[in-house]
Amino acid sequence: SSPIPHQQTIAAVATAVAPGQGGIAVVRLSGPAAEVVGRSVVSIPGQQLWVSHRVLYGHVMDESGKERIDEVLVLLMKGPRSFTGEDVVEIHCHGGLMAVQRVLERVLAQPHVRRALPGEFSQRAVLNGRLDLTQAEAISELVAARSRRAAQLAMTGVDGGIQRRITSLRERLLDQLSELEARVDFEEDLPPLDAAELLLELQCVRRELEQLVEDAKRGDVLRQGLQVALVGRPNVGKSSLLNRLSRRERAIVTDLPGTTRDVLESEIVLEGVPITLVDTAGIRATKDALEQLGIDRSHQALAAADVAVLVFDLSLGWTADDAALLAQIPDDLPRLLVGNKADLQPASMTASLSNEVDGKTVDVMLSALTGQGEEALIEAVLKTCGASEAQGLVVALNQRQQDLAATAAIALARTQEAAAQKLPWDFWTIDLRQAISSLGEITGEEITEAVLDRIFSRFCIGK
Ligand code: GDP
Ligand code: ZN
Repeated sequence: SSPIPHQQTIAAVATAVAPGQGGIAVVRLSGPAAEVVGRSVVSIPGQQLWVSHRVLYGHVMDESGKERIDEVLVLLMKGPRSFTGEDVVEIHCHGGLMAVQRVLERVLAQPHVRRALPGEFSQRAVLNGRLDLTQAEAISELVAARSRRAAQLAMTGVDGGIQRRITSLRERLLDQLSELEARVDFEEDLPPLDAAELLLELQCVRRELEQLVEDAKRGDVLRQGLQVALVGRPNVGKSSLLNRLSRRERAIVTDLPGTTRDVLESEIVLEGVPITLVDTAGIRATKDALEQLGIDRSHQALAAADVAVLVFDLSLGWTADDAALLAQIPDDLPRLLVGNKADLQPASMTASLSNEVDGKTVDVMLSALTGQGEEALIEAVLKTCGASEAQGLVVALNQRQQDLAATAAIALARTQEAAAQKLPWDFWTIDLRQAISSLGEITGEEITEAVLDRIFSRFCIGK
């Protein structure tokens, strides 16, 4: 027999897997056969009973029953009190690669078990009503978070903060829709519709949606981080600046060594914002090099950047080469003009130095050597990218949710339009229904299986 997909039992490693890494690793099973499979692959000594939500100690045995594959803890969570709402068994193995892989293979060799697809555990949790879609997405974002602030923001979603906001807006629209629909069907039997009040309510909901989208755009900075491209002629101090900023916070996530002695890329966290600093040392102001820019890694860094920091040498002043580099920064890319080596200037001179070069304002003067002006640079970068405003955010929709909230707001605007044109009520309801449906798609209340599949296929396996 071939059971329908939701009745199949799925299994995957739920923890990150790397050779030589990790004290424990977890194999997760979910579905009707989970308990049977757990019982048949794990040998439990003594008087321990398979009781839900109780931890058992034992060994995963190979199929001959003679060899111990790993020493494990097993946890049975009977549905619906489990992550997926189905029977779930977690086998806590030793970390690394071999033991956990062998345990997984052993599990997959059992009848009615197959490998989980990416995001399939979360998908089942949503289908079984254990989580709404925004919560499942937030868990994924929490796992992916690169800063403390991003993690806090994701937790709001995990706790249902997005779901509650959207559901309450959707319910307000449903109330208005039922008022309208009643009039369409039984106008004569009902008191006249207070159209002004209804439109006011739609306007309120629309404003809230637009605000959510606006806030979310600011939250993107925390979620996706910023890419900062350091641009400047050789010897102006790009590497020194990059190294200084990288050392500044201890929350360095990665350090990618470049081909030279210099670090070319570094990921740091400033004020809760994950920032990738890229030294575009490859960009030259010459004509020839200009032609190579298309294939240049440095140029790509500039194209992907959220802000360009153009560094020049204060001790040499502003040169034609600096101007040529400045001209290469794409017009729509925010940029900061940064004068370095301020320590070489007598303090009086720096102070008197005109804040303008070529009619452009120098945003920050600093010294990569002494660190003076470093704070000002960080502040300027965050401000330029709108990251300062992301600090107070509590709720931030992801891109998918933003698109749907924006669609709903537009549909509400069309309803208001229909009202302004004094079109019959069934015209109002068309757009109102569209708005309601878009909000339902955010939380997963109104969503097709195909859309769900697409969303969860972007999750990793084991989630
Ligand atoms: P890059 O080619 O732009 O990456 O420049 P480097 O960071 O390699 O710096 C070039 C030279 O300038 C090195 O000798 C640095 O020590 C020096 N330098 C960099 N920043 C400063 C600074 O703020 N003050 C002074 N006095 N020297 C600096
Ligand atoms: Zn350098």
